[in-house]
Amino acid sequence: MQATYELGPLHMGRLPKGSDVLNGLLAIVKEKGICSGMVWAIGGLECARFAYYDQKAKRYLEINLTKETELLSLVGNISQKDGLPFIHAHITVSDENNTYGGHLMEGCKVFAFEYHILELKGPTLIRAFDDETGLFLWQSKA
Ligand code: ZN
Repeated sequence: MQATYELGPLHMGRLPKGSDVLNGLLAIVKEKGICSGMVWAIGGLECARFAYYDQKAKRYLEINLTKETELLSLVGNISQKDGLPFIHAHITVSDENNTYGGHLMEGCKVFAFEYHILELKGPTLIRAFDDETGLFLWQSKA
């Protein structure tokens, strides 16, 4: 799968303390009407919820961190799934001793959060179920 995009506007901002990372980003994407794009963020989290994909079992294993962490990195993309905007992002977080990371899920609570969302102009990126991986991936004809 390959497609070429023009760079659109770059949206920057903060999510408020106590808000949910995934839902907060999704609300911005919907409000701005973004169909395709890239997303990055750094900050701190009051708690984190992410997942590891077990490739053999083809299922996500959830990880819940109830502690405060630094959000070292959030990186992801925006496409469409079932006709709605969909954010696929991964996070890396750390405490004083360890680093953790995985597939971003609902349930990450913001302590501080600074984001960049880069809108992309081009063919609509659509996610569809992929038998081989068990994941919803970008369609090959996109
Ligand atoms: Zn993922």
